Amino acid sequence: MQSRRPVVLITGGSRGIGAAVAQLAAARGYDVAITYRSEREASERVLSSCRAASARAVACRGDVAVEADVLRLFDEAEAALGAVSHVVNNAGITGRSSRLEQASAETIRACIDINVLGALWVAREAARRLSVSRGGAGGTIVNISSVAASLGSPNEYVWYAASKGAVDSLTVGLAKELAGEGIRVNAVSPGMTRTDIHERSTGDAGRLERLRPHIPLNRIGEPDEIAEAVLFLMSEAASYITGANIPVSGGR
Ligand code: NDP
Repeated sequence: MQSRRPVVLITGGSRGIGAAVAQLAAARGYDVAITYRSEREASERVLSSCRAASARAVACRGDVAVEADVLRLFDEAEAALGAVSHVVNNAGITGRSSRLEQASAETIRACIDINVLGALWVAREAARRLSVSRGGAGGTIVNISSVAASLGSPNEYVWYAASKGAVDSLTVGLAKELAGEGIRVNAVSPGMTRTDIHERSTGDAGRLERLRPHIPLNRIGEPDEIAEAVLFLMSEAASYITGANIPVSGGR
């Protein structure tokens, strides 16, 4: 009998880093559930390329900031693919860039709702389903944080940096809490990575290139380079790593 491929659920898999993680996971032998909030067509393109790598792949629509949506996203993924054993907590936003005193309550609240509450709902649901003492088979959780958590993002989005600081705390605490449950919890902290998030937050297509000289490796990161670190942390090669946070930032 053919052994079942492990199933990974990736929040925010329609674009950017989440899409790159989905495609690399498919190529490395995982079945893939991606979630998205609005971009159905982009999700379909990601599914097509996962299927081209012989993975089973589904896209589930929902808002990670909404607790009930998160439960449903896991239910839909598991109904289609079987038990999830790896979760990548990736969905995130920055909100429109500005100094804090100019930021609206809506901008700050949306960022905290998605990046912090959303990450907590997803991590909690993963803990419930993967924990060995609850009948799960164990697995991994990889949280996508940001080097902004330690750099602070002054004049751009300090609320976003603060939200990623919360993701770092979540990673450390949950790694210890779930160590006896067969679940490793780690984080990847990207630096400047070539995705839509920058233009959406600043409306400035040239921003990434202008920031390049501030990056020791003198180039912008690619989503595939973030995905490599995520796949490593999910893999057996990382079997003794939990509570870690790998910066993938070109040295920033
Ligand atoms: P993108 O804007 O390219 O993609 C974001 C993804 O998240 C999309 O799939 C989007 O879905 C989804 N998403 C957004 N809000 C929600 C929500 N409420 N519920 C469900 N899905 C949602 O971003 P990146 O790929 O750049 O970022 C991915 C992660 O990496 C984020 O956590 C970000 O903070 C982090 N990061 C990125 C860096 C970078 O330079 N790019 C640097 C450091 C960290 P849809 O398209 O359907 O709206």
